[in-house]
Amino acid sequence: MKTTVAKFGGTSLASAAQFRKVKAIVMGDPARRIVVASAPGKRFPEDVKVTDLLLKCYGEAAGGHPFEATLEAVHRRFREIVAELGIDFPLEAEIAALRDSLQREPERNYVLSRGEYLNSRILAAYLGFTFVDPEWCVCFDAAGKLDAPMTKRTMSAALRPLGNAVIAGFYGADATGRIHTFSRGGSDVTGSLAAAAINADLYENWTDVSGLMAADPHIVSAPKAVRYVSYRELRTLSYMGASVLHTDAVLPVADLDIPINIRNTDRPDDAGTTIVRKLPKGETKYPIIGVAGRVGMSVIQVEKVMVSDESGFTAIMLDILKNRQIPFEQCLTGIDTVTVVIRSDVLAPYKEELFAEIRGKLNPDYLGLTEHLSMIAVIGERGTESCDANVRVLQALAGVNMPISTINQGAGKLNLLVGVPEDRYEEAIRAIYATIDEL
Ligand code: ASP
Repeated sequence: MKTTVAKFGGTSLASAAQFRKVKAIVMGDPARRIVVASAPGKRFPEDVKVTDLLLKCYGEAAGGHPFEATLEAVHRRFREIVAELGIDFPLEAEIAALRDSLQREPERNYVLSRGEYLNSRILAAYLGFTFVDPEWCVCFDAAGKLDAPMTKRTMSAALRPLGNAVIAGFYGADATGRIHTFSRGGSDVTGSLAAAAINADLYENWTDVSGLMAADPHIVSAPKAVRYVSYRELRTLSYMGASVLHTDAVLPVADLDIPINIRNTDRPDDAGTTIVRKLPKGETKYPIIGVAGRVGMSVIQVEKVMVSDESGFTAIMLDILKNRQIPFEQCLTGIDTVTVVIRSDVLAPYKEELFAEIRGKLNPDYLGLTEHLSMIAVIGERGTESCDANVRVLQALAGVNMPISTINQGAGKLNLLVGVPEDRYEEAIRAIYATIDEL
């Protein structure tokens, strides 16, 4: 029988009404044997996530301030869920234990993890599944770094014998039993680790959107949903700011070729986006899967005649950056120029000294800085292979008279990166989207 690991995010488990939807989804497919749960998230835009309440509670307790009102807000969230679902759950005792730990010796990660712990126990009781505490099987070292091989072994041993189980997301423990958490949004990582541990056929990630959109919906109205995306494309999209999944959630399943399906708990009939290693043949409707970008970029341009004949010129330039640990986004070399794209906030503190050193060491004929740029990535393993797609993108930009500061496409051809002025970023995205929409 096939096995699916189904992870439900905070909004999917924010209230009793959402729990009911989750139950219908889980019961709707017997393959959904292992469920991973987040803490209750926002029920409405101004609402506060339980993890944020816990963080506040910890801050108050650690600072010696009263925390009872914040703890009561956490208690209320769970009380409502338990009461509305009508399940038998020892909530009072659990909250008393949390209060006790806050009074005695508040431990940040322990406090933060209680949202997932309680929500998963409640969900397990509601579904009639076994509760698995990641404290026993998601293994961290003493410094708080995940021990991936150990986690795989321990999780596999914990989950394989169970018919159905709910495991709490976001945290684990070290050998001394001390709780550690992933970074925020880390229940995605737990889901991925669980899918890898039991070699699941599918990792479903249930959230509040029907997958990835081909462009930012704040910029383009009603962009297309992306049906399939490769792990590599996803990596570029996330780097460019499109966030649907924690970045560390890809690796464990990608290694084993387990697809990740992003689904919407509020619209369970939507197919969502499936993240795969290789795009299925004939299934990829759009050769270009999306357009995304980042504002706040600067470009340093160093020109010197015969640069391409001078070995080590670019290396010296990059060394100057490396010595100050300044990461760069792109480095383009031409016949007589070296162009480096850097995030403006990263560059700001070093601007003067950096320019002095470039002048001193490289003695350029021209040294320029262009600020307030944005970098746009047109992404698609297949689309950007064809020259037609690139022509269309550049034509779209020319059509709106967009000045282009840089164009970059490496041999990998996964994406075409174009630099345009920051104040025309949204216009450029819309123009490009309009043309890839037809592809
Ligand atoms: N509850 C945690 C957070 O809000 C982890 C998660 O939801 O994945 O970041």
